[in-house]
Amino acid sequence: MSPKFNELLALLNTVHDLEAAAELLQWDQEVNMPDAATESRARQVATLSRAAHEQFTSEQVGDLLHCVEVPPNSWQADLIRVAREDHERARRIPAALVSRLAIASGRAKAAWRQARQDDDYARFAPHLETIIALCIEKAHAIGFKEHPYDALLDEYEPGMTTAQVRDLFGSLRNDLVPIVKAIAARPAVTDSFLRTTTDTTAQWDFGMGLLRRIGYDLSRGRQDTSAHPFSTSFSVHDVRITTRLHANNLCSGLFSTLHEAGHGMYEQGVDPKLEGTLLARGTSLGMHESQSRLWENQIGRSLPFWRGFYPDLQRAFPQALDQVPLNAFYQAINKVTASPIRVEADEVTYNLHIMLRFEIEQLLVEQKVGAAELPDLWRTKMREYLGININSDTDGVLQDIHWSLGAIGYYPTYALGNLMSAQIFACAKEAIPDFDDNIARGIFGPLGAWLTSNIHQWGRTRTASQIVQTVTGGAVSTRPWLAYIRQKYGGIYGGLP
Ligand code: ZN
Repeated sequence: MSPKFNELLALLNTVHDLEAAAELLQWDQEVNMPDAATESRARQVATLSRAAHEQFTSEQVGDLLHCVEVPPNSWQADLIRVAREDHERARRIPAALVSRLAIASGRAKAAWRQARQDDDYARFAPHLETIIALCIEKAHAIGFKEHPYDALLDEYEPGMTTAQVRDLFGSLRNDLVPIVKAIAARPAVTDSFLRTTTDTTAQWDFGMGLLRRIGYDLSRGRQDTSAHPFSTSFSVHDVRITTRLHANNLCSGLFSTLHEAGHGMYEQGVDPKLEGTLLARGTSLGMHESQSRLWENQIGRSLPFWRGFYPDLQRAFPQALDQVPLNAFYQAINKVTASPIRVEADEVTYNLHIMLRFEIEQLLVEQKVGAAELPDLWRTKMREYLGININSDTDGVLQDIHWSLGAIGYYPTYALGNLMSAQIFACAKEAIPDFDDNIARGIFGPLGAWLTSNIHQWGRTRTASQIVQTVTGGAVSTRPWLAYIRQKYGGIYGGLP
């Protein structure tokens, strides 16, 4: 490769290393750090992030990006293309705006925590107003063709537009609301045995066993506990996940482990030749979520999976499960209930929580509603979509951290991930012989290899839509997800509309 390319590569490697160091400090903050270090840690992370940003947006990198020559159709060409896009976007957002957003978000986060604790939305509202105004400013700085929301969404789901998401969610809602209503009218499933008190050490051991079996590589990763489960990657060779265990909830930690392992295996599966560059990560948040959901739901909440693992689980937790047949356990882990809290939502109702947030975010960005109107709007939409009443803002508009972080445009990626996971899963099932038998026998190698070769290895060299197109032969669609939901939940609750 040319000397200019090598010079550019070295600069981009440095940016990557600074970012990885900042992420390691953040991992440490969630896993190990004493509370008293919050202030100093925020400063240290900010220092590294600023250094990375300055290096990346420098004239030197800009000049090299425009004069360097690389062979067409190579990973080097992909690197230059994606780096130019990132560089262009980063340069358009003025440094002053970046720091105003960081300061506003620091304050909004503190106000949000307090407001959520005291059920006092009025305390958070002015901060949210500021965050929205800054996000609109950011959208205009970045630029957009149709809708300011496009510019914000693009940060999390590159290439996807607001209009596309609106179409997808619109048709999804029309099919989903009657399904949720039909299930609500059927006899409820019993799941009280899942809340029997169990030993969290035994839960941890079982989760570690699952990680080994499904193919999360513990020689290039590790699992710890943290207040909010997450996954993070410092290198293709160091991808870490966390989980959270509850003595009175046997399965929540196990599903969180499977979910984060799905994210982790995506990052571990990136082609090692991309290591140390900005291509060496998942291509979008939606595609990332498709991988976590696939392992958590399509595999982890499936009958074949528990046909294999349930006897072990019963042996590990006899006091909770001895008297519970496999089918009753399977129904319990797939129980559908309309509930106010997104992170506790089941597979069927989850997307409705996302649609509500997406609709509200558009109204905010279009300045058609102000922050003060959100609690009422939230209540109205929850009644409309899920048929439930919201009694407090803590269980309503204040439940999630995203807006206080300035992460407007993030939510749709959760539902897009669900849709993609069903599309991808349907193709994997068709491509891999004896699929269900393998899962029941604890053989996950063929699925892991299929996901790596079709999705993981590409890193950011291909967009999510390109991957979906190549794998499924079409665009992101609601049909496979709806078919999956109707089949699975029709089996549990009886025929669905
Ligand atoms: Zn996730």
